[in-house]
Amino acid sequence: MVESCIFCRIAQDNLPSHKVYEDDKILAFLDKYPLARGHVLIIPKAHVSNIDELSGEDAQALFHTLFKLTKAVQRGLKTGSTTIGINNGPDSGQEVPHLHLHIIPRFPGDGGGPVHAVMRQRPSVSDEEMLQITKAVKENISA
Ligand code: 5GP
Ligand code: ZN
Repeated sequence: MVESCIFCRIAQDNLPSHKVYEDDKILAFLDKYPLARGHVLIIPKAHVSNIDELSGEDAQALFHTLFKLTKAVQRGLKTGSTTIGINNGPDSGQEVPHLHLHIIPRFPGDGGGPVHAVMRQRPSVSDEEMLQITKAVKENISA
């Protein structure tokens, strides 16, 4: 629990929220400033800022909740599409430094874009760099 963290305060019931799901590890609630009707946030109750600080158990619990709630949001809001995302770290535009998954219902003609719209320009990556990047990622996979 981090006193200054609004999502810790929501998890502790010190701030009101519209909760849609809760268990011992996870809480999900409506985004207060939604990008679409039914915009849901899923958080681990344990405070971490970034996905690489998450315990394996909480990672499993988060994804399992995402799996359940995506279906529930789509059925509840009567749509077959959602955009699912995490702003992971300050350089990604994360504003609340308590890890959270966004489920954003999508509708025909809603004016939104795909995940690819987060970057305005793409780098030109050579075959050699692709090989170096592949190696760098593979070498850093931990159990
Ligand atoms: P981020 O940019 O960190 O990925 O997203 C933070 C999200 O938290 C935003 O979509 C914002 O609307 C939402 N948010 C900020 N303050 C509150 C709050 O007090 N309550 C709720 N339910 N959502 C909040
Ligand atoms: Zn927190």
